[in-house]
Amino acid sequence: LVRLRARLSRSQNVFGKGLLGLLSRDHLDDDAWDEVEESLISADVGVQATTEIVAKLRERTRVLGTRSTADLRSLLAEELTEALDPKLDRSLHTGVMDGKPSVILVVGVNGAGKTTSCGKIARVLVADGHTVVLGAADTFRAAAAEQLATWASRVGAQVVRGPEGGDPAAVAFDAVKKGIDAGVDTVLIDTAGRLQNKVGLMDELGKIKRVVEKHGPVSETLLVLDATAGQNGLSQARVFTEVADVTGVVLTKLDGTAKGGIVIAVQRALGIPVKLVGLGEGPDDLAPFDPSQFVSALLG
Ligand code: GDP
Repeated sequence: LVRLRARLSRSQNVFGKGLLGLLSRDHLDDDAWDEVEESLISADVGVQATTEIVAKLRERTRVLGTRSTADLRSLLAEELTEALDPKLDRSLHTGVMDGKPSVILVVGVNGAGKTTSCGKIARVLVADGHTVVLGAADTFRAAAAEQLATWASRVGAQVVRGPEGGDPAAVAFDAVKKGIDAGVDTVLIDTAGRLQNKVGLMDELGKIKRVVEKHGPVSETLLVLDATAGQNGLSQARVFTEVADVTGVVLTKLDGTAKGGIVIAVQRALGIPVKLVGLGEGPDDLAPFDPSQFVSALLG
């Protein structure tokens, strides 16, 4: 939590400033509400979510007779936490199931941080005593397999890779086979994120999934999203949720944005839990996402 707080300090600034302005007012008037709205929108919460959150807050403060901006702060924290659906299951489905390793597909556009996130997740699992195979099914980007192999040796996982330009589904199949033969706990498959057209993406991810399912079910499909892409990243994200059964979101580069509210926009727009957040480029810069801790870090 301390690390999360420190890393989110940039997010905190944007939110914090807006709130600080608010807290300097002694009572809630229309100007104060405009400021709440502006600070949420400028923190990338998104117009729709902001409108809803503010409408709920206004109603609650009216019913409760809240006049002080200090009391508003805790109500705001509650509403932001609620907007993140705190009851959703955010655990990762890992480990041996029915005698076979869990298989996690990692999808998302190029540059979002898929390969890095595979490496970081493997690191966490290995540290927990799990054995891991990393499958380099991003055969289109020349450096991707090399990068994944580097992560594998760095964190103590095995890697399966194919020829450059080869069939991604074949690599995914081999990775799961290796995982089963070697009796490992979890297989993580890094896929290519080419988004020229939806049909092509659907075909490719569909084929990977079908091939992997010859061995057994896919336990989890994680969509990796770049937090710095802001609201623009959401339409791309929707394409992935339409073509793949996404079970969780990894929101990367939260350290690189002053707009932490994007977590709320993403979760609302996609209706899929943000499970992990990327907070830097290093192996330990990954944290499980906890809505109430996040909101309190955000509000400072
Ligand atoms: P991929 O194409 O989706 O596999 O993306 P990569 O894993 O290669 O990541 C693209 C770039 O983003 C690399 O330079 C990573 O080091 C960087 N990156 C990934 N995750 C994070 C993060 O959480 N924070 C920051 N600051 N950089 C990240």
